[in-house]
Amino acid sequence: MMEERYYSFNRYLRERYGVRVQRIPVNLGLGCPHRSNRTGKGGCIFCDSYASGVLPYAIPVEEQVRRGIEYAEKRYRARLFMVYFQAFSNTYAPVDELERLYKRALIDERIVGIMVGTRPDLVPDDVLELLKALSDSYEVWLELGLQSSHYRSLRFINRGHGVSHFVDVLLRAKKAGLKVCVHVILGLPGEERDDMLETALFLSALPVDGVKIHNLHVLKDTPLERLYLEGEISLLAFREYVSLCVDFLEHLRKDIVIQRLTGEAPRERLVAPEWCLNKAEVIRAIREELRNRGSVQGAKCPFKRP
Ligand code: SF4
Repeated sequence: MMEERYYSFNRYLRERYGVRVQRIPVNLGLGCPHRSNRTGKGGCIFCDSYASGVLPYAIPVEEQVRRGIEYAEKRYRARLFMVYFQAFSNTYAPVDELERLYKRALIDERIVGIMVGTRPDLVPDDVLELLKALSDSYEVWLELGLQSSHYRSLRFINRGHGVSHFVDVLLRAKKAGLKVCVHVILGLPGEERDDMLETALFLSALPVDGVKIHNLHVLKDTPLERLYLEGEISLLAFREYVSLCVDFLEHLRKDIVIQRLTGEAPRERLVAPEWCLNKAEVIRAIREELRNRGSVQGAKCPFKRP
């Protein structure tokens, strides 16, 4: 087996549970306040209205989980599971409704964890209290979309929140004893290599537990598609991304778990770049680049876990 030069989520889970643990994606159908007609500001420029990688929310939560477990058992021989509330913003409801929804997903005693994806400005204290209570029985990860540590980039992609919102929720979540995973995009317009490496260092200086990294990719029917088709933005080439991603890993603290190394765009929704459809090839190339450099995650990170 190839030596692993970064701290993969699979390794983390095997070390912790000793068996294959599989994420079960769930669609709660909550939407996102940033996209909503009522209160939203149009959403992030790369976000489409499809929740990819999950079943339609019309399927009851319990059934989504049951089907996910059945599939993961057959396909990956998984023995334990983590329910991943993935679609849009999964804290966008009053806390008692969230509690009901989350608990409806916990239908099987082999579920050991819960992952909740959301925006940094959408996690009030009562939701953290709920997640903290759940963490008595489950491993709870809060997944925060940040994308970049640079405010001008957040403004360009119309995130609708600042870097300060992220730091605020991160510190509150850590105080509540939760694990925090941060989503990052490499190749945002206007960002140079050093800007992206600063994001790696920024996260490394904070009590972050995991990251999900992917390249900027363009989906159909998004504001980003228009910018791309009008030639206003350019996208990273395959080799550029591999090299940048390895640079990023080198600047990231070695104990931060890498939960994703490339985008997961559905073929029918993707405009560009086509290379990111071949996820296995991207991961293989990143591993090879680390090996060729004789390098590892954290090799250029000066920070210890705070
Ligand atoms: S916060 Fe997430 S769900 Fe909401 S618009 Fe941005 S990317 Fe889409």
